[in-house]
Amino acid sequence: MWSTKITFKSLNETLSFLVESENEVLIKDFFFGLYSIFGDINNSTIESLQKNDLQTKSQVEDFVVKFKSKFPPSINQITSFFNKLDDNEYFLFLPNIELTISLSNQLNNYLISLSRDVDLEKLNDEFESTIGKTLNDYDVKGFGGLRAFIGNKNNKKCRFCGKNEEETTFKNKAHAISEGLGNKKVFLYDECDRCNDKFSIEIEPDLINYFSIFRTFYDVKGKGGTKKIKGKNFEIIKDENVQITFQGIENRPNIEENPDQYNIRLELQEKINSQDIYRCLVKFCLSVVSENELSKFKRTIKWINKDFKIEKLPMIGEAISYKHFSYEPKLFLYIRKNNNKKLPYMIGEFHLTCKLITFIVPLSDEDNFNCEDTAAFENFWKEFNHYSKIKSWVFNDYSTDDERDFTFNLNGEIKCEHNKNNNG
Ligand SMILES: [Zn+2]
Repeated sequence: MWSTKITFKSLNETLSFLVESENEVLIKDFFFGLYSIFGDINNSTIESLQKNDLQTKSQVEDFVVKFKSKFPPSINQITSFFNKLDDNEYFLFLPNIELTISLSNQLNNYLISLSRDVDLEKLNDEFESTIGKTLNDYDVKGFGGLRAFIGNKNNKKCRFCGKNEEETTFKNKAHAISEGLGNKKVFLYDECDRCNDKFSIEIEPDLINYFSIFRTFYDVKGKGGTKKIKGKNFEIIKDENVQITFQGIENRPNIEENPDQYNIRLELQEKINSQDIYRCLVKFCLSVVSENELSKFKRTIKWINKDFKIEKLPMIGEAISYKHFSYEPKLFLYIRKNNNKKLPYMIGEFHLTCKLITFIVPLSDEDNFNCEDTAAFENFWKEFNHYSKIKSWVFNDYSTDDERDFTFNLNGEIKCEHNKNNNG
């Protein structure tokens, strides 16, 4: 079998596909045709950097016509890739290349520097000093952008209680990330009905309530949609505009007197268990992680099942970033790929609306990382610095494992904090 991977990459699109055939003559003909467009066949050179000019366009069209019937559907994808390019837009032709996140980012920088007249070296330096550093230690996987079903449909085994189809039922459609947060794309076969019910009662409401203000502000549709939220001292109605009404004079902010300096405390109606917010975020991670990785988190699973509590959890990093704005929940997993046990094994990063939450997944077998060691935590955060540009990071302690009042601080933009003083 002859097989080659072909990748085309522009700033906004990446197309990768495998070309396979047992017919040696055919496949040689195919590559001869392709390489003639993007290189100099006589001198056996290929030019990776290409421009979508008239000549290239017509050569690609002829090539597609010639091989259309022999290599479907890969060939049709070439047509749709070129249809999305602007006239004279730069793109890259990359045969036989495995496009890692790191390489993809560097190539993006390259394309940005070409199209926008920016210094490539400067971009690459910036990349190296930010996420490049993180990628030396971690593999990154993203969930939520594409439709995905996780687990084995034909041989279901619950990730959280270990039972199979003979021991329990799997009738519910289990969402890897709560449907109440707007997830309509990532599903999990390996979660039984009992665990699904249990999580939806025990830990998911805490995170959903926590996000209620953000979801109302930005009109994120959960189950049945969200338009209105009523707290203890406020009501927010999202129409075309956002209206906030305050109850109780002592809580009314004096915006007229002090337009630049107001600080409003919004008290949620529902009490929230902070440790359950953390459990729920970690449950999402364990829903999407591969089975092989999952086996390293046996104690973590017991913890999210509420078999025990952790006295002191690592601080959770929270930020507001409009650059990362997302109407749908998105989850990124950073899994350490080396033996540097000074760094946590797995980190989760959750995005919804303008809110970004970064947290360590605790209790992995691969971890030596001491959450209570402040210096170790600071060292980790320094290494994990691809968000150094976001200035709004705050670190909050979510160790409290009983239900308490929860307060958001609103000052121009929404920031939230756990109400530490109120034992409710
Ligand atoms: Zn189960």
